[in-house]
Amino acid sequence: IGGPLQRTALKEYGAELLTRSRMVFELQGALDGERQYGALVAHYQPQVDHLRGVLIGLEALVRWQHPARGMVFPNSFIPLAESTDKIYQLDMLVLEQVCRDMRAWLDQGLPVVPVALNFSRRSLLHPQVIADLRQLLARYGIDGGMLEFEVTESQLLATADLVGPRVAEFRALGARIAVDDFGTGYSNLDAISSFPFDRLKVDRQFVHGVEGSERVAGLFHLIQGIAELFKAELLCEGLEDEADLLWLARRGASCVQGWYFSAARTPEAIVRILGALRERATAPPLTTAQLR
Ligand code: C2E
Ligand code: MG
Ligand code: MG
Ligand code: MG
Repeated sequence: IGGPLQRTALKEYGAELLTRSRMVFELQGALDGERQYGALVAHYQPQVDHLRGVLIGLEALVRWQHPARGMVFPNSFIPLAESTDKIYQLDMLVLEQVCRDMRAWLDQGLPVVPVALNFSRRSLLHPQVIADLRQLLARYGIDGGMLEFEVTESQLLATADLVGPRVAEFRALGARIAVDDFGTGYSNLDAISSFPFDRLKVDRQFVHGVEGSERVAGLFHLIQGIAELFKAELLCEGLEDEADLLWLARRGASCVQGWYFSAARTPEAIVRILGALRERATAPPLTTAQLR
């Protein structure tokens, strides 16, 4: 059937299907800990208060160390995990690694900071999540207050009525809730005011390369007002250069994360960073230059 054009299209479609089903298969293998499919590993990106010069937290960001493809970034497999019902297993695997890493850091006497994890809506709403979280906290001896769960604005608001009670259960364990990629979802203020949250993470599009844009400056001011209204902390993502830093500093926005300070680092690199912080524990706080 069809001419050469259609045959090519069919062939490409076939190849794409093969890639997708193969990726689903391999991802399941990695989730089940089968070594030939590589490993899913959380790296950590530092979050800093650049006006005070201190490390305030870490965000766990999952990577797939694939034997043939090398390091695979989450944007190419999280959507696949979400659409094939594997996301809960993935999010819990990351949560367990975070608890295990924190336990090791505590045992080494390192100055541990809170860790933020990304949770898909499905994981947040999963019927087992609170029981599983409790169990992990108990097994590793981790305080719920050392964890923050990030859900994107669009995923939270799609089901705001279901999210409210669940968010309360997380917070009852001491965990914090962050609204991720804020400013890119619906910004339905009525829905967002229907549940409590602790932090607004301002999306990179309001942070990087915005100097000189009056429009973005106005929106940023609004977002600061929203955070204040809801008594939530503001954290700006995607800070890449000095110009971004100065722009934020002028607006009194002090909590940031981005490549300017550090990309996500391996757990081993984080141990070195925390070790260096312990050495300085009695010294004055770090300067911005020292944190870079
Ligand atoms: P996100 O939570 O908004 O994470 C921020 C993303 O921006 C990360 O990409 C991070 O590496 C990147 N980034 C950090 N600083 C900068 C910067 O200065 N400039 C730019 N251009 N980018 C920066 P990554 O690691 O590829 O993660 C992408 C998304 O994947 C995350 O977005 C998050 O939504 C999702 N994700 C990551 N890990 C998990 C997980 O364990 N579970 C779930 N459900 N989602 C995850
Ligand atoms: Mg995030
Ligand atoms: Mg984000
Ligand atoms: Mg994002």
